[in-house]
Amino acid sequence: MSMLKKIPEEMIEKVRKANDIVDVIGEYVQLKKQGRNYFGLCPFHGEKTPSFSVTPEKQIFYCFGCKKGGNVLTFLMELENYSFLEAVKILAEKSGIDLPETNTTEETSLSLENQNILSAHNWLTKLYHHLLRYTQDGKEGYEYLKSRGINDDSIDQFELGFSPAVKGFTADFLEGKGFHQQLLVKAGLLNLLDDNSIVDRFAGRIIFPIRNHLGKTVAFGGRTVTGQHPKYINSSESELFQKNRLLFNFDLAKRHIRKESEVILFEGQMDVISAYQAGVKNVVATLGTSLTDNQAKLLKRYVDTVILCYDGDQAGINASFKAANLLRQVGCKVKIANLGENSDPDSYISEFGVDSFKKNIIQASDTYTSFYMRYVKKDYNLNVEADRIQYIHQILKQLAMIDSSVEREHYLNDLSEEFNLSIETLKDEVHAERKKIKHKHNGEQNRYTRSTSKLRQQNRLLPAYQNAERFLIAYMLEDQLVSDRVQKEIGVDFTMDEHKVIATHLYAYYEEVETSDVSMFIDRLEDDNIRQLVIEIAMLPILNDISNQEISDYINIIQAQKRNIAILNDYREQQRLAEQENDPIKAATIALNIIAIERQLKNTK
Ligand SMILES: [Zn+2]
Repeated sequence: MSMLKKIPEEMIEKVRKANDIVDVIGEYVQLKKQGRNYFGLCPFHGEKTPSFSVTPEKQIFYCFGCKKGGNVLTFLMELENYSFLEAVKILAEKSGIDLPETNTTEETSLSLENQNILSAHNWLTKLYHHLLRYTQDGKEGYEYLKSRGINDDSIDQFELGFSPAVKGFTADFLEGKGFHQQLLVKAGLLNLLDDNSIVDRFAGRIIFPIRNHLGKTVAFGGRTVTGQHPKYINSSESELFQKNRLLFNFDLAKRHIRKESEVILFEGQMDVISAYQAGVKNVVATLGTSLTDNQAKLLKRYVDTVILCYDGDQAGINASFKAANLLRQVGCKVKIANLGENSDPDSYISEFGVDSFKKNIIQASDTYTSFYMRYVKKDYNLNVEADRIQYIHQILKQLAMIDSSVEREHYLNDLSEEFNLSIETLKDEVHAERKKIKHKHNGEQNRYTRSTSKLRQQNRLLPAYQNAERFLIAYMLEDQLVSDRVQKEIGVDFTMDEHKVIATHLYAYYEEVETSDVSMFIDRLEDDNIRQLVIEIAMLPILNDISNQEISDYINIIQAQKRNIAILNDYREQQRLAEQENDPIKAATIALNIIAIERQLKNTK
């Protein structure tokens, strides 16, 4: 691999050894130990039941669903779109390893244009922050933040800033740094007006830098302090800034989310900042749009429980309902904070303090079911009997979906008290509903088992020689002695082309390295498909101690297959000649032989 030449291989090994794959992937995927492996939801394809596995012994990951697999470096390359070098650098930094300077130009997965856009954001963040914090030009912004209870530490931590309402300020500053106007318009930092004049997009606004999950500022949010409309704007979307994929503060909140095993989701960036300042740090926010499927899935990869803490007004409640359903769809447990009408998280914290926020809002947040009972009430006039009955029916349907009988009974009691109904009647109704659901559910389960057993069958249906080759390679990957023996006896004479390629690389690898290490081995493979296949093979269940006899059996199967194929080819050639010579009897005899061999080939399945 040409990339390896830039950093010595021992160095890459050192970096890899210092970063356990379980820890690194654990930052992206919630992993649970099961036997010798860890399992979680695959970050590469959508799924609700975990089929993504990490094997610490081999330092590899593999998804049984989409079949993606690799080592810690390929994981980062796939997920973050890093180049090989970038992935090595990130891990080296993490583990405090100094890499030797590479003379080659920096290899990065970002286009030059995007690198420039990042750099422009970086400059501006520092400039705006400086202005707000230390100068007269930013005083309005600073005072506004103070009035909202934001302290200097938070202003520094979030690098809040101010863009002065001075015509051409941003444009001049960045052009002075050598950035082209066109690029800045494209990056959404400047606005191009109809008359072709340029204005600063955020002039007169407090700047909230929006960082991606790697901590790089990719966009700004701007809040007016001069009464402009709209009150709040974000950068326009770009390749680097996709509102439906990012969550505000995710980079800082990540480790707190993991520690607390839950995340609090807000609608506003101010909510995040004031909660964070008050010490509640597992907090993120959407960016002015409703929660998207992408964001829900991102959260699900990190935690099981999401607490929605939206504004207490009707709009906030409606948004909560939508977000809650989306999160439940991706498999999250959802709780909904109840702030009461006319309140939002930021004002609640400044009015009642963080202790009350934690105790009376977060800890006291509603389960989805009680929120649902409250939420759907608004659609009914409960003073009217027909409405009341319909409401109760809707709630019973919802309760029927709860599997825990204790939990169900808890809500049924509430309902029975509220509407003065006998608990027995309500229970009967829920039972009837559950029967209906069970019916539907069973159908689904059958579909699922059918598809998985089909998958298993497909595996079993691989021809014997192909299985023999795969298992043999699996043992070769684990044990150099096996590899040496196979090299001597069959060399690269496998029947499958991919297997030939793997064997060739493996022999070369052992010649140099002399210890088995799948994770290290795959870095030498440039072809993605071959790499995937090696990981897939490395995941085959093999014995700790394989006897020589078993190895011989595999080799025999492969050699027999090779022989039969050679004979078959030979017959086909003879058949061609016989046809050329116009000898139908000879051709027919050969055809019979071919059929016999083909039957034999089939029987080795
Ligand atoms: Zn997958």
